[in-house]
Amino acid sequence: MAMYEMHLDYLKQSDKAVYDAIIAEKERQMNGIELIPSENLVSQAVLEAMGSVPTNKYSEGYPHKRYYGGNEVIDVIEDLAIKRCKKLFNAEHVNVQPLSGSPANMAVYYAIMNLKDTFMGMKLTEGGHLTHGHPVNFSGKLYNCVQYGVDSETERLDYDAIEKQAREIKPKLILSGYTAYPREIDFKRFREICDRVGAFCMADIAHIAGLCAGGAHENPVPYFDAVTTTTHKTLRGPRGAIIMCKEEFAEKIDKAVFPGLQGGPHDHTTAAKAVCFEEALKPSFKQYAHQIVKNAKALAEELMRKGLRIVSNGTDNHLMLVDVFKSKGLTGKEAEHTLETAGIYCNKNTIPFDKRTPWDPSGIRIGTPVLTTRGMKESEMKEVASFIIKALDNHNNTGKLEGIKRDVKAFCDQFPFYK
Ligand SMILES: *Cc1c(COP(=O)(O)O)cnc(C)c1O
Repeated sequence: MAMYEMHLDYLKQSDKAVYDAIIAEKERQMNGIELIPSENLVSQAVLEAMGSVPTNKYSEGYPHKRYYGGNEVIDVIEDLAIKRCKKLFNAEHVNVQPLSGSPANMAVYYAIMNLKDTFMGMKLTEGGHLTHGHPVNFSGKLYNCVQYGVDSETERLDYDAIEKQAREIKPKLILSGYTAYPREIDFKRFREICDRVGAFCMADIAHIAGLCAGGAHENPVPYFDAVTTTTHKTLRGPRGAIIMCKEEFAEKIDKAVFPGLQGGPHDHTTAAKAVCFEEALKPSFKQYAHQIVKNAKALAEELMRKGLRIVSNGTDNHLMLVDVFKSKGLTGKEAEHTLETAGIYCNKNTIPFDKRTPWDPSGIRIGTPVLTTRGMKESEMKEVASFIIKALDNHNNTGKLEGIKRDVKAFCDQFPFYK
């Protein structure tokens, strides 16, 4: 189990207010059960790369073709990140400059589609991301997005229904990859559907990138036209994103990122991405990815055994959706707040065909990337399930919830990460 000491000596002397807040946040992260599936804990090496001098540099352009002088070292950093990322995902071409997941998706749309073109993405309420065509988002405003969903019986993707929809609307692009879908995605089937209707085949693997890199979920990169991912979720790197694509789309996509959408890349983040890719190439990361899934399955089984309804009756990946409204008569908002009071962190989330609103839905979304990084295994997932049930059952007893929070801290102290 990793354990990293955080000093921040200069910050402590020069800005006590910000220092104190950062230390308080570190304590919060260490003292609670973190179940938000889009979060992780990065290594000290990633943190150090992020807090380093490449942040001072301007380097618009790409390696060996920059609009500023003095980029010979930044070129080394960006080349390293690209080379390692290609190896990790078996990618033909990589752009490591996207600032985060949303701008990465925007860059691919901008490169491939014209305004008002039709594309297909999954509904937000059934597991898609805002940038997959939601009406409040640029993706739903600038393009004509026809959304697909999951089957009402199985709560899983129905590939034949998606193919039928695609044949009818003939989209320019079909997007797979989700934010709140607990099941394995049949990427080969998506490729087949795209080929049959002549659509650009894109995946956004932000949530599952670490599982794809570690062999715990199929990796679509070698045969998809373009794949975007954040680097800060299961991949366990700095906040940021990357785009991987076939060579034939490389120039268009690079131009969409810069100068199309962004200015200077965040070179300190690029350095941290390079560190993250090297960590993910190690055999221990494969183990990590598989353990995330084992832990999620163990947690889902234990919660179901204790009477909670889990959407689609389980999980194949790192996350699950708990129907707290049906199981416990609590709304997602109430459950999130209850668990927070007990030092357990999750996020409220809609479940498929939710009759409630996204602001106060029927479910919560939980996952195991952080707990697995801390070294927890299947047996600890049983304890985590007990904490969750106990908290939900005592939702109107603040005293009890505070007691649980103390027990949660004692439990977490056995799995130190940052000192
Ligand atoms: C998290 C996520 C994003 C957005 O990433 P940001 O870095 O928050 O902009 C995009 N797509 C999916 C599927 C995600 O889960």
